[in-house]
Amino acid sequence: MVLIFLGPPGAGKGTQAARLAEHFGLKKISTGDILRDHVKRGTDLGRQVAPIMARGDLVPDDLILAIIREEIEKLPAARIIFDGFPRTLPQAEALEALLRDLGLATDAVVLLDVPTEELVARLGKRAREEGRADDTEEAIRRRLEVYARQTAPLIDYYAGRGVLLRIEGVGEVEAVTRRIIEALEASLWPSSSSGQKK
Ligand code: AMP
Repeated sequence: MVLIFLGPPGAGKGTQAARLAEHFGLKKISTGDILRDHVKRGTDLGRQVAPIMARGDLVPDDLILAIIREEIEKLPAARIIFDGFPRTLPQAEALEALLRDLGLATDAVVLLDVPTEELVARLGKRAREEGRADDTEEAIRRRLEVYARQTAPLIDYYAGRGVLLRIEGVGEVEAVTRRIIEALEASLWPSSSSGQKK
C-alpha cells in the first residue's frame, strides 16, 4: 500500500500521516523530518539545505529523490505513507517511475483541505510553541506561495489518475483522522467498507 499526504504547510500532514501509519501499519517517510535531522546532525546535506529550508524554499529535486530512493531501498515491504513528498511535478513523475519499477503504484493521495486564514493561525501558533527555523512570518508566507505555485499542480495530476481524496482538514485531530480512514476504506475496499468500523 502506498499513500501520499498532500496539502499546504500547516494542514496537519505530519500529524495525520503518523496516525494513519499507526492505524494501517505503514512506514511514514517524511522528507521534512529527514532533512531537519540532517540539519541537526550537521551533515554535508544538512549544511547545504539549512538556508533553503529556513527561507521556506524547496530543496532541489535531485537531493530529495536521492533521499527517497535510499528510504525505499531500506524497507522490507512497500507499505509506505509519504508525508511532504512529492512537492513538485518532477518529483511526482520520478516517484511514479520508481514505483513502477517495483511493480507498484500510488493507491491514494490524501489532500488535506484547510482555509488559508486557518493555516496562517496554526503556523503562527506552532512558531510560538516549537520555534522551527522556517516558522518566521516571512518564511511562512514564502512556504504558502511555494505551495500554491509548485505543489498545488499535483492536485490535478493525481485527480487525473483517479487517486485523489479531498478531505476537510478542519476540526479535532481525531475527527479528521476518522474522516481520512473512512474515505480511504471506501476508496480502497469499496465492497467491504460500510462505515461501521471505528
Ligand atoms: P515540511 O516539514 O514537510 O514542511 O518540510 C520543511 C521544509 O523541508 C520545506 O519547506 C522544504 O524546504 C523542505 N522539503 C521537505 N520536503 C521537501 C520536498 N519533497 N521537496 C523539496 N523540499 C522539501
